[in-house]
Order: sequence, then C-alpha cells, then structure tokens
Amino acid sequence: MCDKARQVKVYRHAASTVQEHIDTGLMSDRLSHMNFILQGGCTMENISMIILLVLCFLMPVMALEGFERDIVETSQGDLEITFIGHGTLMFRFGNKVIHVDPWSRLADYSKLPKADLILLTHHHGDHLDPAALQQIRTDRTVVVLTAICAQNVTGDVVMENGDLRELLSIEILAVPAYNLVHKRESGEFFHPKGEGNGYVLTFGDTRVYIAGDTENTPEMKALENLDVAFLPVNLPYTMSPEMVLDAVKAFKPKVLYPYHYGDTDVAGLVEMLKECPDTEVRVRKME
Ligand code: ZN
Ligand code: ZN
Repeated sequence: MCDKARQVKVYRHAASTVQEHIDTGLMSDRLSHMNFILQGGCTMENISMIILLVLCFLMPVMALEGFERDIVETSQGDLEITFIGHGTLMFRFGNKVIHVDPWSRLADYSKLPKADLILLTHHHGDHLDPAALQQIRTDRTVVVLTAICAQNVTGDVVMENGDLRELLSIEILAVPAYNLVHKRESGEFFHPKGEGNGYVLTFGDTRVYIAGDTENTPEMKALENLDVAFLPVNLPYTMSPEMVLDAVKAFKPKVLYPYHYGDTDVAGLVEMLKECPDTEVRVRKME
C-alpha cells in the first residue's frame, strides 16, 4: 500500500533568484557590466546606468513574482512547477524549461524564461496564443502541438491522440481530451473527440498528467501510476466536480491540482474529494 519509492513529496518553494540568473547566464554578464561602470566613478550618468542595470537584473525575478511554485522530487532531481494561471503552467526540470499552453493574458512572456519545450493542448484562444509563443521560442525550442494548432502556428512535433514520443529525454504521451456531455447550443461538443490532447510527461520516475480541456473520458480513467494530475473544472466547457470525483476514483493520482477552474466552487470539490483518501488535493491560483 505504502510504496515509498513512488510517494510524491511536494512542498512550497521560495524563489531561488540567484540560481535563476546563473541558469540564464545573465548574472555574470550583468556583473561585468556593473564592474566596468563602477570603474568610471560615480557620475550622474553612471548612477542612472547602475539603476537601469539593477532593474534589468531584477526584471525576470519580478516577472515570476506573484506566481505560486511547488517542487516535486523525482528520481532525477527536482521538478519545479510554476502556476501561471487558468490552463497555463511552466515546469523546470534539470536545465530545461517547459511551457504548457502559454497565454499572454496571464503573464508578460517577454520576461519569462525561454522555452526548451512548449506543449499545446488545443487551438482555443486561452491555450494557443501565437504572441506568447513568439516571445518564449528560440531556435532550439521544440513545440509539441495538435494538427489543428499546426494550421495556425509553426510547430515541430504534431501529436495525435495516443501518440508516444520521447523529446529532450522526457517521455510524452498524448491522451485524448474531449467532451462526453457538454455541448454548444448548436449541439456540437465544445471539444470534439480527436482534436485536443492532454499530455502525460515522465520526469525520471514521476508521471505528471496535464489533462487539457476534457471530461472524465475512458482514456483518462484507464491511466495508471500518476503522481500528479491537473484536471480542468470550469463549466460548462470541461469537468463538473462529479466528473472529477468519478475520474479520481478510477485513476487515483497521488496529487491532484484542479486547474482551469473559472468560477467553479473549488472548496466544494475539495470537500467532495475527501471520499478519495489516496489522492491529495492541492489548490493553487489557477482560475
Ligand atoms: Zn478549450
Ligand atoms: Zn480552455
């Protein structure tokens, strides 16, 4: 019952600002500029230059302030999760930065770390945002997306439902994301089957499921050995609390983050999930 090796340790994380700058290579650059200016003495011009440099130095840190972060310990080191909001996340694993459904409405992406990997779940405006993509993409960024997303933006790897790939040493499984019940007035599902992906990412021995916009599908309920799951709970587009309960009972993630939850009563959902003692529910600012 108590399999220690697979237990997930998650704890709150205070921003490691110095490490961030060492990671991005900005610190040494900025320090040497600072040195150069200091050698020139304390003229007015130099003082304003120093103020400017200090601001540049702090900007990436300030950009991430206000976002909650958790750390999950894996067999290959810490996985850092930054909760950007709604259906949008950022992960750091080793020296890699992974953005999921980056959306400019939630963050100034010009100030966030550049992406090694970007995952897009589907083409709706709160998930596919070309402006955000442009700001975090570099020559070496790998963009994983659906076929419909690829009609709107240039991608690198189109994944169909059920595809399994290994990219940047991370195994990625595309899980179908679709509605079973909730429809538009026209009678069409908000998310028809075959269009959208959720993704299961494997970091060392830790499996993280980002469900995308979906309901409690048979494919979701058949998933196994999930350490962390993100399930969407905003109505009428995605899962009702009852659907979440049904799914959690079936696939039993060790940690559940409700996300993309809009106005849904998350406290009520947490109460309801007391029926599932094997799953720890963690609520972050993800409306
Ligand atoms: Zn959607
Ligand atoms: Zn959405």
